[in-house]
Amino acid sequence: MSSGPHIEQVRKLLTSIPGPKSQELIKRRAEAVSASLGMAIPVVVERAGGGVIVDVDGNSIIDMGAGIAVVNVGNSADRVVKNVKEQVEAFTHTCFMIAPYMGYIQVCEALNRLTPGDHKKKSALFNSGAEAVENAVKIARNFTKRQAVVVFEHGYHGRTNLTMAMTAKNMPYKDGFGPFTPEVYRMPMSYPYRCDSCSGSCQESVLDTVLHKIEKEIGAQNVACIVIEPILGEGGFIVPCKGFLPGLSKFCKENGILFIADEVQTGFARTGQMFACEDESIVPDLITTAKGIAGGLPLAAVTGRADVMDSIHASGLGGTFGGSPIACAAALGAIATIEEENLVERANELGLIMRNSLEAMKKKYPIIGDVRGRGAMQALELVIPGSKEPNPTALTSIIKYCQQNGVLILSAGTYSNVIRLLPPLVMPEHLLKEALEVLEAGLAQA
Ligand SMILES: *Cc1c(COP(=O)(O)O)cnc(C)c1O
Repeated sequence: MSSGPHIEQVRKLLTSIPGPKSQELIKRRAEAVSASLGMAIPVVVERAGGGVIVDVDGNSIIDMGAGIAVVNVGNSADRVVKNVKEQVEAFTHTCFMIAPYMGYIQVCEALNRLTPGDHKKKSALFNSGAEAVENAVKIARNFTKRQAVVVFEHGYHGRTNLTMAMTAKNMPYKDGFGPFTPEVYRMPMSYPYRCDSCSGSCQESVLDTVLHKIEKEIGAQNVACIVIEPILGEGGFIVPCKGFLPGLSKFCKENGILFIADEVQTGFARTGQMFACEDESIVPDLITTAKGIAGGLPLAAVTGRADVMDSIHASGLGGTFGGSPIACAAALGAIATIEEENLVERANELGLIMRNSLEAMKKKYPIIGDVRGRGAMQALELVIPGSKEPNPTALTSIIKYCQQNGVLILSAGTYSNVIRLLPPLVMPEHLLKEALEVLEAGLAQA
C-alpha cells in the first residue's frame, strides 16, 4: 500500500493494555482534562498509519475505528501530509470570507463533482459535522420559508443545540442539556431487525406511517427539510429497507421539502460507493459531509442544488475557520488518495471479508442477533440468546477482550449493543483478518 506512513503493519503487544507509560499519562489526562470526555481505549497514541495505532509503550494496535470513519485514507496518508506541509509553509489562515484561496475553491469543485446528481451544484465549507448539519437546516429554512425539520429515531446529527435536538439518543448526548430548539419532529425509522411488521419489505408500513404523521401532525407545507443518514451511524449501522429512502425523497419532491442526506459518517468511499445515497440512486437536494473528507483534519461541507445554495443573502453563511486552507489542502490529498487508489473498490473488498466472517460468526454464536451494514461499514447487534433483548453487557466484555488483545473496536446503537467495524480503507487484509479472529475469540469468551 503506497499511502500511509511507514509503520510496520502488525499487531504487537509489548505490555498489557494499558501499559505503564500510558497509565502514567492517563493520570495526567484525568488531572487536566474535563471528566466529561469519553475514552474508548485507555492508551496514549504516539504514531498511527495504515491499519495500526502505536502507543507510548510501543504496542501496535489494530485500528478498527479509523477515528470514527475519519481516516478512511489512513493516518498521515502520503498525499495528505505532503499537501499539508506545503500549505503550512505557504500560509496558515486568511479567513476565506476576508481573502479567498484556491484550496477552498478546489474542494468545493471536487464535492460538486463527486456528490450524487449531475445538476448544477455549489458548496460551502465549515469545521465540523454538526456545523454542516446546522447550516444545511439554516439554508433549507431560508430557502423554503418554512420551519419544521423532520428527523428519525436512532438518528445522530451532532452535539450543538440544534443538532442535539435532531439527535435521538438522550444518554449521553442530550441529558440535562436542554431546552432544545423547537420545530424538530422525530419520525419512526425503518429498522429491519426490529420492525415488528418486517418481512423484508417493512418500508411500506414504516414509510406510510412516516408520511401519514408528517401530513397529519406537522403539515407537509410546513416542512423545510427531511434530514436522514442513508445508513445510521451512531444509531448502530441501521440500513433502512429498500424503498424507504426513495419513498421519502419522492415525498419531498412532491411537497417542496428539501431532502438532506447527512453523509458525515457514510461519505467518502466508506460504504463501497463514494456516497451511500448512490445505492438507491437518491439525489439529495443538500448533502452534509465531514469525518472522512480530509484525512483527519477538521473540515465539513454542505453541497447541493446551486439554486438553493445561492438563495441565501450575501454573508448569510460563514465562520472564521470554516474551510481552513490547511484542512482544504488535506482534503484535496484525501480525495486524490480515494480516487487514485480506488478506495471505493477497496471498501467493497474489505466489506466482503468482514461480512463473510461476521455471517459465519452469527451461525456459531446465538448472542449475535443481526449482521448488517454496507461496504467497509459493518456491524453486529448483540442480544440475549433466543430473544431480541439488547445485550450491552456482552458488548462491554467483547470490546474489553479485543482491547486487551490489541484490537480497537467501537460500539454504537441506541441500546449500546452494537459492535461497529470501520477500518481505515488502506488496512492490509492480513490485519483485518487478524482483527476478526480476535473479535471471534472475544465473542466465544462472552
Ligand atoms: C459524527 C456525525 C455528526 C457530527 O459531526 P461532528 O464533526 O462530530 O460535529 C453528524 N452527523 C453524523 C451522521 C455523524 O456521524
